[in-house]
Amino acid sequence: MQLIPKLCLSIPQSFVALFTIDKCLTEMKLRSILNDLSELAHPSLQESYDNSGLLVGNPEMEINGILVSLDSTEAIVDEAIERNCNLIVAHHPIVFKGLKRFNGSNYVERTIIKAIKNDIAIYAIHTNLDNVLQNGVNQKIAEKLHLNNVQILSKKKEVLTKLVVFVPTSHAENVREALFNSGAGKISDYDKCSFNSEGIGTFRAGQESKPYVGEIGESHHEKEVKIEVVLTNYLQQKAIKAMTEAHPYEEVAYDLYPLLNEAPEIGAGIIGELNNALSPSDFLQHVKTNMNATVVRFTQSNHSSIKKVAVCGGSGSFLIKQAMHSGADAYVTGDVKYHEFFDSEDRMMICDIGHYESEQFTIELLVDFLSKKMPNFAVLFTKTVTNPVNYFY
Ligand SMILES: [Zn+2]
Repeated sequence: MQLIPKLCLSIPQSFVALFTIDKCLTEMKLRSILNDLSELAHPSLQESYDNSGLLVGNPEMEINGILVSLDSTEAIVDEAIERNCNLIVAHHPIVFKGLKRFNGSNYVERTIIKAIKNDIAIYAIHTNLDNVLQNGVNQKIAEKLHLNNVQILSKKKEVLTKLVVFVPTSHAENVREALFNSGAGKISDYDKCSFNSEGIGTFRAGQESKPYVGEIGESHHEKEVKIEVVLTNYLQQKAIKAMTEAHPYEEVAYDLYPLLNEAPEIGAGIIGELNNALSPSDFLQHVKTNMNATVVRFTQSNHSSIKKVAVCGGSGSFLIKQAMHSGADAYVTGDVKYHEFFDSEDRMMICDIGHYESEQFTIELLVDFLSKKMPNFAVLFTKTVTNPVNYFY
């Protein structure tokens, strides 16, 4: 069935007539949407236990609408069918461990079977979206709680590379710009970062070569610039391609070094500050209201006011000690177990608002991102509440 994109619905008929129909996109290749989602949070940034990425579907599929949700369940697949969406973008991967049978004996199998039968693709953007600062799950929580000066709570290591390339002086600017345009040379809020040193490169061209400078069979000395840039590992291929295309030499000499540095914008949790310190009771109300939480389970702390706040969407117990170590007055997360509450030692207020509640605004984040990328395409916010936890009080 032909989908009517949402934007078209809001445009007066006379206005539509001024434009050709391709202004309202009715189909889009899944591969192109996957590229956009990789730009938001690259799948390589997911944790080793995770299963983010394209779980069902083929990148060559034509997509006619996207349904965004926190979970992909049978009810979500039903909603996708009803609303003419053949791509579900969900935060949690429905398939987390290997499936050996497909006989519908549990909700995971039934969801996958229903999606495949109805040609619906499922994409999960889970811990990779947790691990990015910009537009990540935790930045969204920080925004809802009005936190400023946010930074990653537990920065990730082994995700950065140093790329060093040797370029004849005449082409140094071109190669540098090509590297920057590929995303290399970005350090926190600075971009186009590089170090450049001049020197002499030497080489002798072989009989089969086509040297850009120098003669075949003769030693050559060339004034060169050594350009050094930092990049995230997943940008390596793109940067090398851009660099090679801008470089005049037949054989480009470059080195890749894995870095031990922490990545400033990649990692788990976020820590930031409230504009004005709040009393513990006012802070609890602030969290409950702004996070739309039904209940907040919390520990007492010996802090009379709360200003520095750490957050982690989902199950964030693993960051309790890190949050305390970073000087947080309070830590907002979900899924905290009884004994883990003791870990605060009265030095930090732990606020457990529930897993779903802590991550619910991830849907808003994804819809906003995809709608900006594809303003004329149907990106729909789910109407289904997938939270399996209810409260009786
Ligand atoms: Zn979660």
